[in-house]
Amino acid sequence: ILDSDYIKAQIRTVRDWPQPGVMFRDITPLMQDPKTFRVLIDRFVHRYMDQNIDLVAGIDARGFILGSVLAYNLNRGFVPIRKKGKLPFDTIGEDYALEYGTATVEVHADAARAGQRVLLVDDLIATGGTMLAGARLLQRLGAEVVEATAIVDLPDLGGSERLRAGGLAVWTVCA
Ligand code: 5GP
Repeated sequence: ILDSDYIKAQIRTVRDWPQPGVMFRDITPLMQDPKTFRVLIDRFVHRYMDQNIDLVAGIDARGFILGSVLAYNLNRGFVPIRKKGKLPFDTIGEDYALEYGTATVEVHADAARAGQRVLLVDDLIATGGTMLAGARLLQRLGAEVVEATAIVDLPDLGGSERLRAGGLAVWTVCA
């Protein structure tokens, strides 16, 4: 049951969503099944429990689901990296290109302090643009991004390679 193949087998591929030509990897079945959700979260917890993480940052919106549970289990705080216009206080922003379209992510200006070791979490790495933008935000606040982590990497899209080329450590449960 701890096998990544068990987790991977429960990712649902939805053809032509959100637009024609896209094969969307739907992770909702992973979270809906209690055993799988626990196994999945435990994989992250075991990896990061001894890495002196100060803070967990999750990316809007599926990164919130994973990131908050992970932060709680690591006994650390959680910071949301949100899509533009959603955060109420002073923010900084980064523009990036998506697999389909462009977007901006923002974080509160006081979300992390200089030198804090932050774990960056999202559900999936496609082109890597979202994670890279999230990492830049945290780095602009002076934080150290310990690792960019996700459930799934789509290696054919080169995202994790791009992140590593940008100096980030990357770990995913399934490739
Ligand atoms: P990237 O910026 O790496 O190209 O795209 C990753 C971002 O888009 C993540 O925030 C992720 O949630 C979303 N995303 C792109 N493609 C997929 C997909 O096939 N499945 C899921 N679950 N999310 C995706």
